[in-house]
Amino acid sequence: MLVKYCVFDKVHIGHYRLFLLKPIFLFNHYKSGDNMSINSFGLKITLLFSTLLLSACDNVQETPQSSDAAVDVAAPATDQISNMENEEALISRAMEIHHRVITLDTHDDINVNNFTDELNYTMDTDSQVNLPKMVAGGLDVAFFIVFTGQGELNEEGYAQAYENAMAKFNAIHWLTEEKAPDQIGLALTSDDVRRLNAEGKKIAMIGIENAYPVGTDLGNIKKFADLGARYMSLAHNGHNQFADSNTGERVDDDGNPTEPWLYNGLSHFGKEALALMNLHGIMVDLSHPSKQSNMQAIALSKAPVIASHSSARTLSQTVSRNLSDEELMAIKENGGVVQTVAFASYLDRDKNNAYRKVLNKLHVEIAATMGFEILGFAARRNLSDAERATYNEEFAQLEKLAAPRLEAEVYAVAPPVDVNDFVDHIDYMVNLIGIEHVGISSDFDGGGGIYGWNSAAETHNVTIELVRRGYSEEQIAALWSGNLLRVLDQVQEVSKELLAAE
Ligand SMILES: [Zn+2]
Repeated sequence: MLVKYCVFDKVHIGHYRLFLLKPIFLFNHYKSGDNMSINSFGLKITLLFSTLLLSACDNVQETPQSSDAAVDVAAPATDQISNMENEEALISRAMEIHHRVITLDTHDDINVNNFTDELNYTMDTDSQVNLPKMVAGGLDVAFFIVFTGQGELNEEGYAQAYENAMAKFNAIHWLTEEKAPDQIGLALTSDDVRRLNAEGKKIAMIGIENAYPVGTDLGNIKKFADLGARYMSLAHNGHNQFADSNTGERVDDDGNPTEPWLYNGLSHFGKEALALMNLHGIMVDLSHPSKQSNMQAIALSKAPVIASHSSARTLSQTVSRNLSDEELMAIKENGGVVQTVAFASYLDRDKNNAYRKVLNKLHVEIAATMGFEILGFAARRNLSDAERATYNEEFAQLEKLAAPRLEAEVYAVAPPVDVNDFVDHIDYMVNLIGIEHVGISSDFDGGGGIYGWNSAAETHNVTIELVRRGYSEEQIAALWSGNLLRVLDQVQEVSKELLAAE
Protein backbone atom coordinates (compact mmCIF):
# COMPACT_ATOMS: atom_id res chain seq x y z
CA MET A 1 0.00 0.00 0.00
CA LEU A 2 1.20 3.47 -0.78
CA VAL A 3 0.14 6.54 1.20
CA LYS A 4 1.27 9.86 -0.11
CA TYR A 5 1.31 13.30 1.38
CA CYS A 6 3.49 16.32 1.10
CA VAL A 7 5.08 18.59 3.63
CA PHE A 8 6.78 21.86 3.04
CA ASP A 9 9.33 22.68 5.65
CA LYS A 10 12.51 24.55 6.34
CA VAL A 11 15.37 23.68 8.60
CA HIS A 12 18.15 25.95 9.81
CA ILE A 13 21.51 24.24 9.96
CA GLY A 14 24.38 26.54 10.80
CA HIS A 15 24.32 29.35 8.28
CA TYR A 16 22.37 27.29 5.79
CA ARG A 17 18.66 27.43 5.30
CA LEU A 18 17.35 24.18 3.93
CA PHE A 19 14.04 24.05 2.18
CA LEU A 20 12.58 20.63 2.21
CA LEU A 21 10.08 19.93 -0.51
CA LYS A 22 8.99 16.53 0.43
CA PRO A 23 6.83 14.11 -1.40
CA ILE A 24 6.76 11.25 1.09
CA PHE A 25 5.99 7.69 0.17
CA LEU A 26 4.99 5.30 2.92
CA PHE A 27 5.33 1.67 2.03
CA ASN A 28 3.87 -1.03 4.16
CA HIS A 29 6.90 -3.11 3.68
CA TYR A 30 7.11 -6.61 5.05
CA LYS A 31 10.64 -7.73 5.27
CA SER A 32 11.83 -11.27 5.43
CA GLY A 33 14.78 -12.14 7.59
CA ASP A 34 14.26 -9.12 9.80
CA ASN A 35 16.09 -10.75 12.67
CA MET A 36 19.34 -10.02 10.95
CA SER A 37 19.02 -6.27 11.08
CA ILE A 38 20.05 -4.75 14.37
CA ASN A 39 17.66 -1.90 14.79
CA SER A 40 15.14 -2.49 12.11
CA PHE A 41 11.64 -1.28 12.68
CA GLY A 42 10.44 -4.21 10.71
CA LEU A 43 7.05 -3.66 9.23
CA LYS A 44 6.54 -0.14 8.16
CA ILE A 45 9.35 1.55 6.39
CA THR A 46 9.16 5.11 5.32
CA LEU A 47 11.16 6.31 2.43
CA LEU A 48 11.74 9.95 2.05
CA PHE A 49 12.75 11.77 -1.05
CA SER A 50 13.67 15.31 -0.43
CA THR A 51 14.71 17.98 -2.80
CA LEU A 52 17.04 20.28 -0.99
CA LEU A 53 17.73 23.80 -1.95
CA LEU A 54 20.53 25.31 0.02
CA SER A 55 21.06 28.99 0.31
CA ALA A 56 23.07 31.17 2.61
CA CYS A 57 20.86 32.56 5.34
CA ASP A 58 21.17 36.20 6.27
CA ASN A 59 18.66 35.92 9.06
CA VAL A 60 15.93 36.70 6.58
CA GLN A 61 12.51 35.75 7.81
CA GLU A 62 10.87 33.84 5.05
CA THR A 63 7.20 33.45 4.39
CA PRO A 64 5.78 29.96 4.26
CA GLN A 65 4.91 28.93 0.75
CA SER A 66 2.62 26.38 -0.65
CA SER A 67 3.90 23.58 -2.80
CA ASP A 68 2.34 22.76 -6.13
CA ALA A 69 2.71 19.16 -5.21
CA ALA A 70 0.32 19.76 -2.31
CA VAL A 71 -2.55 19.74 -4.76
CA ASP A 72 -2.96 15.98 -4.70
CA VAL A 73 -2.38 15.63 -0.98
CA ALA A 74 -4.50 12.97 0.63
CA ALA A 75 -5.46 13.95 4.16
CA PRO A 76 -3.57 11.67 6.54
CA ALA A 77 -5.47 9.82 9.24
CA THR A 78 -4.87 10.85 12.87
CA ASP A 79 -2.26 8.19 13.60
CA GLN A 80 -0.51 9.15 10.38
CA ILE A 81 -0.43 12.76 11.53
CA SER A 82 1.37 11.76 14.70
CA ASN A 83 3.74 9.59 12.64
CA MET A 84 4.24 12.57 10.43
CA GLU A 85 5.24 14.74 13.38
CA ASN A 86 7.68 12.10 14.59
CA GLU A 87 8.96 11.89 11.07
CA GLU A 88 9.52 15.64 11.00
CA ALA A 89 11.62 15.55 14.17
CA LEU A 90 13.57 12.55 12.97
CA ILE A 91 14.34 14.18 9.64
CA SER A 92 15.46 17.40 11.31
CA ARG A 93 17.82 15.47 13.54
CA ALA A 94 19.08 13.36 10.64
CA MET A 95 19.71 16.43 8.48
CA GLU A 96 21.71 18.06 11.27
CA ILE A 97 23.81 14.92 11.62
CA HIS A 98 24.18 14.70 7.85
CA HIS A 99 25.49 18.24 7.75
CA ARG A 100 27.99 17.69 10.59
CA VAL A 101 29.57 14.41 9.50
CA ILE A 102 31.93 14.13 6.53
CA THR A 103 30.13 12.06 3.88
CA LEU A 104 32.42 10.12 1.57
CA ASP A 105 31.42 7.92 -1.36
CA THR A 106 34.25 5.60 -2.44
CA HIS A 107 33.05 4.87 -5.96
CA ASP A 108 31.95 7.40 -8.58
CA ASP A 109 32.81 6.68 -12.20
CA ILE A 110 33.65 9.49 -14.58
CA ASN A 111 33.40 10.12 -18.30
CA VAL A 112 36.16 12.40 -19.64
CA ASN A 113 33.56 14.05 -21.90
CA ASN A 114 32.23 15.71 -18.73
CA PHE A 115 35.61 17.36 -18.09
CA THR A 116 35.74 20.06 -20.75
CA ASP A 117 35.22 23.82 -20.69
CA GLU A 118 31.85 23.36 -22.40
CA LEU A 119 30.59 20.57 -20.14
CA ASN A 120 31.89 19.87 -16.66
CA TYR A 121 31.03 19.14 -13.04
CA THR A 122 30.51 22.81 -12.12
CA MET A 123 27.28 22.38 -14.15
CA ASP A 124 24.36 20.09 -13.53
CA THR A 125 25.50 17.50 -16.09
CA ASP A 126 23.24 14.50 -16.66
CA SER A 127 25.66 12.34 -14.64
CA GLN A 128 24.63 11.14 -11.17
CA VAL A 129 27.50 13.05 -9.60
CA ASN A 130 28.56 16.66 -10.17
CA LEU A 131 29.15 19.66 -7.92
CA PRO A 132 25.56 21.00 -7.83
CA LYS A 133 24.29 17.51 -6.95
CA MET A 134 26.97 17.05 -4.27
CA VAL A 135 25.92 20.38 -2.75
CA ALA A 136 22.20 19.55 -2.93
CA GLY A 137 22.56 16.14 -1.29
CA GLY A 138 25.34 17.00 1.14
CA LEU A 139 27.95 14.66 -0.34
CA ASP A 140 31.35 15.97 0.72
CA VAL A 141 33.89 13.56 -0.76
CA ALA A 142 33.75 11.61 -4.02
CA PHE A 143 36.35 9.08 -5.04
CA PHE A 144 36.52 9.60 -8.81
CA ILE A 145 37.44 6.42 -10.58
CA VAL A 146 40.15 5.73 -13.10
CA PHE A 147 38.33 2.75 -14.58
CA THR A 148 39.52 0.65 -17.48
CA GLY A 149 37.45 -2.19 -18.90
CA GLN A 150 39.35 -5.42 -19.34
CA GLY A 151 40.88 -5.92 -22.79
CA GLU A 152 43.49 -8.16 -24.37
CA LEU A 153 46.54 -9.08 -22.34
CA ASN A 154 49.08 -7.84 -24.88
CA GLU A 155 51.20 -4.75 -25.50
CA GLU A 156 48.55 -3.06 -27.60
CA GLY A 157 45.90 -3.63 -24.95
CA TYR A 158 48.18 -2.36 -22.18
CA ALA A 159 49.07 0.76 -24.19
CA GLN A 160 45.40 1.61 -24.79
CA ALA A 161 44.56 0.98 -21.14
CA TYR A 162 47.38 3.26 -20.03
CA GLU A 163 46.20 6.00 -22.34
CA ASN A 164 42.65 5.67 -20.99
CA ALA A 165 43.88 5.82 -17.39
CA MET A 166 46.01 8.91 -18.02
CA ALA A 167 43.05 10.70 -19.65
CA LYS A 168 41.01 10.11 -16.48
CA PHE A 169 43.81 11.18 -14.13
CA ASN A 170 44.23 14.34 -16.22
CA ALA A 171 40.48 15.03 -16.14
CA ILE A 172 40.36 14.89 -12.33
CA HIS A 173 43.46 17.09 -11.99
CA TRP A 174 42.02 19.55 -14.50
CA LEU A 175 38.77 19.88 -12.53
CA THR A 176 40.44 20.30 -9.14
CA GLU A 177 43.43 22.41 -10.22
CA GLU A 178 42.29 24.44 -13.23
CA LYS A 179 38.54 24.51 -13.67
CA ALA A 180 37.15 24.73 -10.16
CA PRO A 181 39.86 24.76 -7.45
CA ASP A 182 37.68 27.23 -5.54
CA GLN A 183 34.91 24.61 -5.33
CA ILE A 184 36.64 21.24 -5.15
CA GLY A 185 40.10 20.09 -4.11
CA LEU A 186 42.00 16.82 -4.52
CA ALA A 187 42.71 15.10 -1.21
CA LEU A 188 45.68 12.76 -0.79
CA THR A 189 45.38 12.19 2.96
CA SER A 190 42.72 12.24 5.65
CA ASP A 191 44.16 15.57 6.83
CA ASP A 192 43.53 16.98 3.34
CA VAL A 193 39.93 15.81 3.57
CA ARG A 194 39.37 17.58 6.88
CA ARG A 195 41.17 20.74 5.74
CA LEU A 196 39.22 21.04 2.47
CA ASN A 197 35.98 20.29 4.30
CA ALA A 198 36.72 23.06 6.81
CA GLU A 199 37.36 25.40 3.86
CA GLY A 200 33.83 24.64 2.66
CA LYS A 201 35.01 22.89 -0.51
CA LYS A 202 33.93 19.63 -2.02
CA ILE A 203 36.60 16.97 -2.14
CA ALA A 204 37.85 14.64 -4.86
CA MET A 205 39.92 11.55 -4.26
CA ILE A 206 41.16 9.01 -6.80
CA GLY A 207 40.66 5.26 -6.99
CA ILE A 208 41.81 2.95 -9.78
CA GLU A 209 39.37 0.26 -10.86
CA ASN A 210 41.43 -2.42 -12.62
CA ALA A 211 45.23 -2.48 -12.48
CA TYR A 212 45.27 -3.48 -16.17
CA PRO A 213 46.76 -0.07 -17.26
CA VAL A 214 49.87 -0.81 -15.17
CA GLY A 215 50.70 -3.15 -18.06
CA THR A 216 53.96 -4.99 -17.54
CA ASP A 217 55.76 -2.00 -16.00
CA LEU A 218 55.36 -2.15 -12.22
CA GLY A 219 57.00 1.30 -12.06
CA ASN A 220 53.57 2.62 -13.04
CA ILE A 221 52.28 1.80 -9.55
CA LYS A 222 54.46 4.52 -8.02
CA LYS A 223 53.57 6.81 -10.90
CA PHE A 224 49.84 6.32 -10.24
CA ALA A 225 50.37 6.86 -6.50
CA ASP A 226 52.18 10.12 -7.30
CA LEU A 227 49.21 11.15 -9.45
CA GLY A 228 47.00 10.78 -6.38
CA ALA A 229 45.60 7.25 -6.63
CA ARG A 230 44.71 6.05 -3.17
CA TYR A 231 43.22 2.64 -3.98
CA MET A 232 43.43 0.13 -6.80
CA SER A 233 41.71 -3.15 -7.58
CA LEU A 234 44.05 -5.73 -9.08
CA ALA A 235 41.34 -6.91 -11.52
CA HIS A 236 37.93 -5.84 -12.84
CA ASN A 237 35.50 -8.13 -14.68
CA GLY A 238 37.72 -10.53 -16.61
CA HIS A 239 41.02 -12.05 -15.53
CA ASN A 240 44.12 -9.93 -16.15
CA GLN A 241 47.88 -10.07 -15.71
CA PHE A 242 47.56 -9.74 -11.92
CA ALA A 243 44.55 -11.68 -10.71
CA ASP A 244 41.55 -13.88 -11.39
CA SER A 245 38.27 -11.95 -11.50
CA ASN A 246 34.91 -12.71 -9.88
CA THR A 247 33.69 -13.40 -13.43
CA GLY A 248 35.55 -16.73 -13.32
CA GLU A 249 32.41 -18.04 -11.57
CA ARG A 250 30.35 -17.64 -14.75
CA VAL A 251 29.20 -20.82 -16.42
CA ASP A 252 27.50 -21.62 -19.72
CA ASP A 253 24.22 -23.50 -20.11
CA ASP A 254 26.04 -26.80 -19.60
CA GLY A 255 27.58 -25.62 -16.35
CA ASN A 256 31.07 -25.22 -17.80
CA PRO A 257 33.06 -22.14 -16.78
CA THR A 258 33.12 -19.49 -19.51
CA GLU A 259 36.27 -17.92 -18.06
CA PRO A 260 38.33 -20.70 -16.46
CA TRP A 261 40.63 -19.54 -13.64
CA LEU A 262 44.06 -18.44 -14.83
CA TYR A 263 45.92 -18.54 -11.51
CA ASN A 264 43.50 -19.78 -8.85
CA GLY A 265 43.93 -16.38 -7.22
CA LEU A 266 46.76 -13.92 -7.79
CA SER A 267 49.47 -14.37 -10.38
CA HIS A 268 53.08 -14.11 -9.28
CA PHE A 269 53.09 -10.68 -10.93
CA GLY A 270 49.98 -9.76 -8.96
CA LYS A 271 51.75 -10.59 -5.70
CA GLU A 272 54.63 -8.32 -6.69
CA ALA A 273 52.16 -5.57 -7.58
CA LEU A 274 50.44 -5.90 -4.20
CA ALA A 275 53.75 -5.48 -2.36
CA LEU A 276 54.38 -2.27 -4.33
CA MET A 277 50.90 -0.99 -3.51
CA ASN A 278 51.72 -1.47 0.20
CA LEU A 279 55.06 0.28 -0.36
CA HIS A 280 53.52 3.32 -2.08
CA GLY A 281 50.46 3.72 0.13
CA ILE A 282 47.75 2.53 -2.28
CA MET A 283 44.86 0.74 -0.57
CA VAL A 284 44.22 -2.74 -2.00
CA ASP A 285 40.62 -2.87 -3.31
CA LEU A 286 38.92 -6.26 -3.31
CA SER A 287 35.71 -5.31 -5.10
CA HIS A 288 36.14 -7.16 -8.41
CA PRO A 289 38.74 -9.93 -8.06
CA SER A 290 37.73 -13.54 -7.29
CA LYS A 291 37.27 -14.87 -3.80
CA GLN A 292 40.58 -16.74 -3.95
CA SER A 293 42.37 -13.63 -5.21
CA ASN A 294 40.89 -11.71 -2.31
CA MET A 295 41.78 -14.26 0.36
CA GLN A 296 45.37 -14.32 -0.95
CA ALA A 297 45.53 -10.52 -1.14
CA ILE A 298 44.32 -10.19 2.46
CA ALA A 299 46.90 -12.75 3.64
CA LEU A 300 49.74 -11.02 1.78
CA SER A 301 48.91 -7.38 2.46
CA LYS A 302 51.00 -5.69 5.13
CA ALA A 303 48.27 -3.06 5.55
CA PRO A 304 44.48 -3.10 5.91
CA VAL A 305 42.50 -3.58 2.69
CA ILE A 306 39.19 -2.22 1.41
CA ALA A 307 36.35 -3.29 -0.82
CA SER A 308 35.48 0.00 -2.52
CA HIS A 309 32.00 -1.04 -3.72
CA SER A 310 30.65 -4.43 -2.64
CA SER A 311 27.81 -5.74 -0.53
CA ALA A 312 26.99 -8.94 1.37
CA ARG A 313 26.79 -12.08 -0.73
CA THR A 314 24.67 -13.91 1.83
CA LEU A 315 21.80 -11.43 1.39
CA SER A 316 21.72 -11.33 -2.38
CA GLN A 317 21.30 -14.62 -4.22
CA THR A 318 25.07 -15.23 -4.30
CA VAL A 319 25.95 -12.35 -6.61
CA SER A 320 29.66 -12.95 -7.35
CA ARG A 321 30.50 -9.24 -7.08
CA ASN A 322 29.54 -9.31 -3.42
CA LEU A 323 31.65 -10.63 -0.57
CA SER A 324 31.11 -13.95 1.17
CA ASP A 325 30.98 -14.10 4.97
CA GLU A 326 34.43 -15.72 4.88
CA GLU A 327 35.88 -12.74 3.00
CA LEU A 328 34.06 -10.30 5.28
CA MET A 329 35.49 -12.00 8.37
CA ALA A 330 38.99 -11.93 6.84
CA ILE A 331 38.62 -8.19 6.18
CA LYS A 332 37.60 -7.71 9.80
CA GLU A 333 40.70 -9.62 10.99
CA ASN A 334 42.84 -7.54 8.64
CA GLY A 335 41.41 -4.28 10.04
CA GLY A 336 39.97 -3.24 6.68
CA VAL A 337 36.63 -1.82 5.58
CA VAL A 338 33.83 -2.86 3.20
CA GLN A 339 32.08 0.01 1.43
CA THR A 340 28.51 -1.26 1.03
CA VAL A 341 27.37 -0.49 -2.52
CA ALA A 342 24.00 0.96 -3.61
CA PHE A 343 23.85 -1.19 -6.74
CA ALA A 344 20.34 -2.54 -7.24
CA SER A 345 21.14 -5.97 -8.69
CA TYR A 346 23.84 -6.63 -6.06
CA LEU A 347 21.54 -5.70 -3.19
CA ASP A 348 18.63 -7.90 -4.27
CA ARG A 349 18.97 -9.42 -7.73
CA ASP A 350 15.57 -11.12 -7.79
CA LYS A 351 13.68 -8.04 -6.63
CA ASN A 352 15.54 -5.91 -9.15
CA ASN A 353 14.85 -8.34 -12.00
CA ALA A 354 11.13 -8.35 -11.19
CA TYR A 355 11.11 -4.56 -11.12
CA ARG A 356 13.10 -4.18 -14.36
CA LYS A 357 10.74 -6.54 -16.13
CA VAL A 358 7.64 -4.52 -15.23
CA LEU A 359 9.39 -1.21 -15.92
CA ASN A 360 10.64 -2.42 -19.28
CA LYS A 361 7.14 -3.49 -20.29
CA LEU A 362 5.89 0.05 -19.67
CA HIS A 363 8.89 1.53 -21.51
CA VAL A 364 8.34 -0.71 -24.54
CA GLU A 365 4.67 0.25 -24.65
CA ILE A 366 5.51 3.97 -24.57
CA ALA A 367 8.42 3.57 -27.03
CA ALA A 368 6.00 2.04 -29.55
CA THR A 369 3.81 5.14 -29.42
CA MET A 370 6.92 7.26 -30.05
CA GLY A 371 8.28 5.12 -32.86
CA PHE A 372 11.45 4.69 -30.80
CA GLU A 373 13.45 1.50 -30.38
CA ILE A 374 14.94 0.74 -26.95
CA LEU A 375 18.46 -0.67 -27.27
CA GLY A 376 20.25 -3.13 -25.01
CA PHE A 377 23.51 -2.32 -23.21
CA ALA A 378 25.76 -3.78 -25.92
CA ALA A 379 23.95 -1.97 -28.75
CA ARG A 380 24.11 1.34 -26.87
CA ARG A 381 27.83 0.93 -26.34
CA ASN A 382 28.35 0.64 -30.11
CA LEU A 383 26.65 3.98 -30.85
CA SER A 384 28.74 6.95 -31.95
CA ASP A 385 28.78 9.95 -29.60
CA ALA A 386 26.25 11.78 -31.79
CA GLU A 387 23.97 8.74 -32.05
CA ARG A 388 24.18 8.24 -28.31
CA ALA A 389 23.23 11.86 -27.67
CA THR A 390 20.13 11.50 -29.86
CA TYR A 391 19.27 8.18 -28.25
CA ASN A 392 19.60 9.63 -24.74
CA GLU A 393 17.40 12.58 -25.68
CA GLU A 394 14.67 10.29 -26.96
CA PHE A 395 15.01 8.04 -23.93
CA ALA A 396 14.69 11.04 -21.63
CA GLN A 397 11.49 11.93 -23.46
CA LEU A 398 10.25 8.38 -22.92
CA GLU A 399 11.04 8.58 -19.20
CA LYS A 400 9.12 11.83 -18.96
CA LEU A 401 6.06 10.14 -20.42
CA ALA A 402 6.51 7.15 -18.11
CA ALA A 403 6.97 9.20 -14.92
CA PRO A 404 3.30 9.82 -14.03
CA ARG A 405 2.54 6.11 -14.52
CA LEU A 406 5.38 4.67 -12.44
CA GLU A 407 3.70 4.57 -9.04
CA ALA A 408 0.55 2.78 -10.11
CA GLU A 409 1.87 0.62 -12.91
CA VAL A 410 5.39 -0.24 -11.74
CA TYR A 411 6.13 0.46 -8.04
CA ALA A 412 2.80 -0.94 -6.88
CA VAL A 413 3.38 -4.13 -8.88
CA ALA A 414 7.12 -4.62 -8.38
CA PRO A 415 8.81 -2.18 -6.00
CA PRO A 416 12.33 -1.05 -6.89
CA VAL A 417 15.37 -1.86 -4.77
CA ASP A 418 15.59 1.08 -2.39
CA VAL A 419 17.50 2.71 0.46
CA ASN A 420 15.87 0.30 2.87
CA ASP A 421 17.34 -2.70 1.05
CA PHE A 422 20.70 -0.93 0.99
CA VAL A 423 20.74 -0.31 4.74
CA ASP A 424 19.76 -3.97 5.28
CA HIS A 425 23.19 -4.84 3.86
CA ILE A 426 24.86 -2.30 6.13
CA ASP A 427 23.03 -3.79 9.14
CA TYR A 428 24.00 -7.29 8.14
CA MET A 429 27.69 -6.48 7.81
CA VAL A 430 27.72 -4.36 10.96
CA ASN A 431 26.30 -7.34 12.85
CA LEU A 432 28.76 -9.76 11.32
CA ILE A 433 32.06 -7.87 11.39
CA GLY A 434 31.48 -4.75 13.51
CA ILE A 435 30.66 -1.20 12.61
CA GLU A 436 34.31 -0.13 12.35
CA HIS A 437 34.68 -2.29 9.22
CA VAL A 438 31.71 -1.00 7.22
CA GLY A 439 31.31 2.03 4.95
CA ILE A 440 29.20 3.43 2.10
CA SER A 441 29.49 3.71 -1.69
CA SER A 442 27.17 4.29 -4.64
CA ASP A 443 28.91 3.21 -7.89
CA PHE A 444 27.20 6.24 -9.46
CA ASP A 445 27.79 6.64 -13.19
CA GLY A 446 28.99 3.05 -13.25
CA GLY A 447 25.65 1.27 -12.90
CA GLY A 448 24.90 2.18 -9.27
CA GLY A 449 21.92 4.04 -7.86
CA ILE A 450 18.75 2.87 -6.15
CA TYR A 451 15.33 4.25 -5.40
CA GLY A 452 15.91 7.05 -2.90
CA TRP A 453 19.67 7.33 -3.54
CA ASN A 454 19.86 7.63 -7.29
CA SER A 455 22.24 10.59 -7.48
CA ALA A 456 24.53 12.56 -5.20
CA ALA A 457 21.59 14.97 -4.74
CA GLU A 458 19.77 12.33 -2.65
CA THR A 459 22.67 11.41 -0.38
CA HIS A 460 20.89 12.61 2.78
CA ASN A 461 18.31 9.83 2.42
CA VAL A 462 20.93 7.29 3.49
CA THR A 463 21.62 9.21 6.70
CA ILE A 464 17.89 9.52 7.38
CA GLU A 465 17.48 5.74 7.14
CA LEU A 466 20.52 5.18 9.40
CA VAL A 467 19.04 7.54 11.99
CA ARG A 468 15.69 5.77 11.67
CA ARG A 469 17.37 2.48 12.52
CA GLY A 470 18.96 3.91 15.62
CA TYR A 471 22.56 4.53 14.58
CA SER A 472 24.20 7.29 16.63
CA GLU A 473 25.96 10.30 15.15
CA GLU A 474 29.33 8.78 16.02
CA GLN A 475 28.44 5.56 14.26
CA ILE A 476 27.10 7.41 11.22
CA ALA A 477 30.31 9.45 11.03
CA ALA A 478 32.31 6.21 11.09
CA LEU A 479 30.17 4.61 8.36
CA TRP A 480 30.27 7.69 6.13
CA SER A 481 34.01 8.36 6.27
CA GLY A 482 35.71 7.65 9.59
CA ASN A 483 36.42 3.98 8.89
CA LEU A 484 37.69 4.50 5.35
CA LEU A 485 39.95 7.39 6.40
CA ARG A 486 41.29 5.34 9.31
CA VAL A 487 42.30 2.61 6.85
CA LEU A 488 43.90 5.19 4.55
CA ASP A 489 45.91 6.55 7.52
CA GLN A 490 47.10 3.04 8.40
CA VAL A 491 48.00 2.23 4.79
CA GLN A 492 50.02 5.44 4.55
CA GLU A 493 51.71 4.72 7.90
CA VAL A 494 52.72 1.24 6.68
CA SER A 495 54.01 2.82 3.45
CA LYS A 496 56.21 5.23 5.43
CA GLU A 497 57.67 2.38 7.47
CA LEU A 498 58.32 0.26 4.39
CA LEU A 499 59.93 3.14 2.52
CA ALA A 500 62.12 3.95 5.55
CA ALA A 501 63.27 0.31 5.68
CA GLU A 502 64.20 0.24 1.97
ZN1 LIG B 1 32.89 -1.83 -10.28
